Amino acid sequence: MKQVIDIIEQGLLRINAGTCFYIIDAEERIAIDSGDRKERQSILKFLPNVIPLESIKKLILTHAHYDNAGNFDLFPNAEIYMHEEELKGFHENPAQAVIDDDLWKKLLTTDIKKLPENIAGLEVIHTPGHTKGSICLWWQEKKALFTGDTLLENGTGRIDYPTSMPEEMGKSLSKLVPYNHKLLFPCRRTC
Ligand SMILES: [Zn+2]
Repeated sequence: MKQVIDIIEQGLLRINAGTCFYIIDAEERIAIDSGDRKERQSILKFLPNVIPLESIKKLILTHAHYDNAGNFDLFPNAEIYMHEEELKGFHENPAQAVIDDDLWKKLLTTDIKKLPENIAGLEVIHTPGHTKGSICLWWQEKKALFTGDTLLENGTGRIDYPTSMPEEMGKSLSKLVPYNHKLLFPCRRTC
């Protein structure tokens, strides 16, 4: 069984919560995704022993699926960000994103900001395919690419969801090639 928290290095945590999410000390301390709601209790059991949840200033959601956005309300002081297209799609049909009824209603009334092109020292790369507003994040300092459900360790994310854009996936993946990453941090792990 995977442990809940992997300290990859100082200032770079991976939390295994159904899907993986990450907490990094870039220009600010930020979270990238927030895992599946079903794992909330185990996150709350372990994560506060490593860092105070209050210390996270921003939560960036790579897309609005329930297993990435499921704990969007975990960090009391964090501004929440999503790509404009994802935000639009979510508001048009919120039930597609977050399974639990009460949860999507809460997310719907939460202030979610549109992602700028750069945030906390990370570059935002719009990569439609898995969903129309999926993004990847590039952390130049570490040559690390956070890829959500777009690029996984052993292939690409699914492109058969209601808001998927299968015809865009190839183009999105080729956008990632020039970054020549040293570290790849997707939302799903095979080992
Ligand atoms: Zn997804």
